[in-house]
Amino acid sequence: MLVIMIRSILRALPSRCQLCHQRLDEDPGPWCRVCRDCLPNSSRCECCGLTCGADTDICGACLNDKPEWDKLFCAADYDFPMNTLLHDFKYRGKFWLAEPLTSLLSEKITQPADLLLPVPMHWQRRFFRGYNQSALLTRSLAKMLKTKWCPDVIKRIKATPAQRGLKRSQRLSNLASAFEVRNDVLPPHIAIVDDVVTTGSTVSILCQLLRQQGAQRIDVYCLCRTAKYRDI
Ligand SMILES: [Zn+2]
Ligand SMILES: [Zn+2]
Repeated sequence: MLVIMIRSILRALPSRCQLCHQRLDEDPGPWCRVCRDCLPNSSRCECCGLTCGADTDICGACLNDKPEWDKLFCAADYDFPMNTLLHDFKYRGKFWLAEPLTSLLSEKITQPADLLLPVPMHWQRRFFRGYNQSALLTRSLAKMLKTKWCPDVIKRIKATPAQRGLKRSQRLSNLASAFEVRNDVLPPHIAIVDDVVTTGSTVSILCQLLRQQGAQRIDVYCLCRTAKYRDI
């Protein structure tokens, strides 16, 4: 209730583009038409989500060594302006950006999964941030794609240190015991939702756990893919 009240007060205020701070007179927001047109629309490998040549669906790296998931859909690279918006969304309390950010992603998804699962956050981190950004994105995405989502099929049972800068083996061993998947019957096609996929280590571990639980097709839906970073 409090969230709804705060959101309606914020929406009633004169709004400005979240990027260039120009007034939004006609555009629905949260960014103006000019800033929205700055979002690049690159051709991507449908498997790893990295940008690749225009005439191929799957890049050579994925043909050679397929990731744990089936397809990855993202709205943009982790670059300006998306990195700025994501930073505001995650660290500056602008939770209301979940909906417009998700709309950029939902238009890329052609065959929505039967069930969407957010990457969970350890309760301590969630306590200090106030929300799990992946869960907000998943809820909004499920509404747009008219599919189901569940916040607690995957649980984070151990807080893991920041993964950036660690070697692949160190990241995997940190993550291996950090998650638990509820003993549920899963539909054949599911998707894991996260804000950014960089190395793919977290979603790879989750794919392994979900496959043990019977998932057949697992897609990844993320707002941003870190460019030129494939270490999966
Ligand atoms: Zn703007
Ligand atoms: Zn690829």
